[in-house]
Formats: sequence, C-alpha cells, structure tokens
Amino acid sequence: MKRFGVLALQGDYQEHSATLSRLSVQAQEVRKPNDLANLDGLIVPGGESTTMAHLLQKRASSSDTKTLGTELTSLIKEGLPVWGTCAGMIILAKKLIQHEPSPLGLIDITVNRNAFGRQKESFEQELTIPEIGSPPFKAIFIRAPVIVDMDDTVTVLARLQDGTTVAARQNNVLVTAFHPELTRDDRFHQYFIESATNHRVAQE
Ligand code: GLN
Repeated sequence: MKRFGVLALQGDYQEHSATLSRLSVQAQEVRKPNDLANLDGLIVPGGESTTMAHLLQKRASSSDTKTLGTELTSLIKEGLPVWGTCAGMIILAKKLIQHEPSPLGLIDITVNRNAFGRQKESFEQELTIPEIGSPPFKAIFIRAPVIVDMDDTVTVLARLQDGTTVAARQNNVLVTAFHPELTRDDRFHQYFIESATNHRVAQE
C-alpha cells in the first residue's frame, strides 16, 4: 500500500487524508521530522500560510536536531513528490509579492496571496485541465493566491477563464491555488498519486 504524508500542523489536512483513504492510500499525518520517513509523496494543505510557515520553523521537541521545514525541504530537493494546495502553494513558492511569510523556494513561481480581494474571497469555477480530462473540474477558491510569474521550466496545468495561472508543476513539485480536497471529485488526488509514482520510478 502506498503511503503519502499530509502536513498536519494547521489547516484542512483532514480532508486531504480522507480523500487519500478513499483512494486506498495510507495517509500519514506529518507533525515532526520522523513522520517524513519512507513516504511516497507529501501534501501541504490549505490554511494560513503565515501560521504554517511559523510552525515549520519550530522544533517539535528538544530531541529534534532539525526543524520540520529543513527536513521537508531537503527531502523535496532530493525528489520527494509534493503537492501544495492554496496556503501550501504559498509555502512551496520561490517568491511572494508580500513580505510574509518566507516561502521554502521549492518551485520557481512568484505568488500573490489573497489575490481576489474582498468581493471574491471565495468562489467556484469549472476548469478545463487536460491532465484530469473531462468533465471540467469544479475548483473551489478560498482567499486564494495566484501565480503571477514563473520560470520557463514550470508547466501550467490550469488557468482561470481570464488566463490567470492557478495550477502548475515543476518536476516533483505540484501546486494548485484551489482545494480539490473540499470536493468529492477525487481526480486531482488520483493524478498526484499517479504522477508521484511515475516520478519515483523515473528516478530509480
Ligand atoms: N489566504 C491564505 C494565506 O495567505 C490561504 C488561504 C487558503 O489556504 N485557503 O495563507
């Protein structure tokens, strides 16, 4: 059975774990460096990126030599497949428009937090995502960030009708501005699990 970690410091990690379980994947809640051992992939959920970034920099216990943020960064740099949703995308980005938080710099994108302002804090839009196939995917945006700039080596996976980039990947790092874990449509999780497995095989 495959084993995927879900960063469980804050935010909607339980919904991700529930989706993984529906897809017959073991979900490992990750709160300390040891929880990262032997994972096939990792999900960084939505929530509040400043709080999550702060908790990633703390040592979970006095016996830990590294912070969870440092350990997770080195595993992702070594090729651990990771997917960040919403706040998770902010955490994984290389650069933010805002001063806070300090992102981990694991995918070459620049992100604008809370890009939709007050009137459109939350909304849904049907997105056509070739990797997912038809029908279109109902994407839920909650105080969502967007990708405003990226390196040429980043692949765009989904755009809003106005062309704004809301999902992308670069090698083993996948990001979405929306929340597939809040729907009953499990196709995006399925895509991540399959692409993570293929990435691992290609690395061997
Ligand atoms: N607005 C939040 C942030 O900046 C992200 C919101 C979310 O994850 N739904 O961290």
